[in-house]
Amino acid sequence: MTLGEALAAARQRIDRLDARLLLQYATGFSHADLLARPETPIIAPAYTQFSEWVERRAAGEPLAYLVGEAEFRGQVFQVSPAVLIPRPETEVLIDLALEKLRGLSTPRVLDLGTGSGIVAISLALECPAAEVVAVDISPEAVTVARNNAGRLGAAVDFRTSDWYANLAGEHFDLIASNPPYVAGGDPHLALDGLPYEPQLALTDGADGLDCIRRIVATAAAHLNPGGWLLFEHGYDQGEASRNLLAAAGFKETFTHPDLAGTDRVSGAYL
Ligand code: GLN
Repeated sequence: MTLGEALAAARQRIDRLDARLLLQYATGFSHADLLARPETPIIAPAYTQFSEWVERRAAGEPLAYLVGEAEFRGQVFQVSPAVLIPRPETEVLIDLALEKLRGLSTPRVLDLGTGSGIVAISLALECPAAEVVAVDISPEAVTVARNNAGRLGAAVDFRTSDWYANLAGEHFDLIASNPPYVAGGDPHLALDGLPYEPQLALTDGADGLDCIRRIVATAAAHLNPGGWLLFEHGYDQGEASRNLLAAAGFKETFTHPDLAGTDRVSGAYL
């Protein structure tokens, strides 16, 4: 079996780009190798790995879980089914947080529900003056996040905590979160590989705003004066999010779209 034959066969079953990436991961060859020398034979163990991945991908398993990693903001993060796969729309949360942190000398930053650690680690790498604390209720997620921070050289203090539970008496200049915000009955949960992701990270099992309510309700107890709360949410949760923030006494509530033009992050300051 050659590279070209394996790729052609896989493309009958799965997305073209996924087929190529899985072949690269399985064989160690680059995209340029695949283009320049499609007649290269594949060694048996690599072909076995590739075939298994193609089957699993065809059955719906996300590519990131097959290869164990995903890219976010130009960095490679290890992922496992204990954590949500990084989504490009979360970049908006990072950009807005960096904008709010600009000019502060040693800001303390909190990431609630860190998962693979992408928010905390990106903020620590891109705002080196910040002291970043990140929590997740899942000890498995905290382990994944800690490993990612170690590999990427980010200084982040990771803890297992149910939202603010283990942060008594601590204050921050910015709180960021990508909480579970998909409503329990949302048919989207059955599509696009979402059944393979931790449901705890995707949905509150209720109306989709439960975690946002909890995050907003207790934020004031953990923010320094002038501190910002920013969180990601669903396309139709902007108004509800701003209302929750305003009701909790926050000022300058706003909602920001993602690159697709969809409402994605809301925030305000205390
Ligand atoms: N944006 C994700 C999705 O719809 C959900 C992420 C989340 O709940 N934090 O697949």
